[in-house]
Amino acid sequence: MQIKCAQCAMPFALSNEQVADAIAILKNDSHAHYDAQCPKCRRSTKLSKKSFEIHPLYKKMLEE
Ligand SMILES: [Zn+2]
Repeated sequence: MQIKCAQCAMPFALSNEQVADAIAILKNDSHAHYDAQCPKCRRSTKLSKKSFEIHPLYKKMLEE
């Protein structure tokens, strides 16, 4: 999944493993955020459940 760093605007990808982690966290607590670390500036970008729900596949995973 492609995202963009909230700090430096660098586009980067989350691995399937990271996405699976995020889905697990967000399924437990829909108000939680997943911290994705930017490979360039090393700061984290907070991803809400909504960031994943816009992808049909991840939306399905969240509903399972
Ligand atoms: Zn960055």
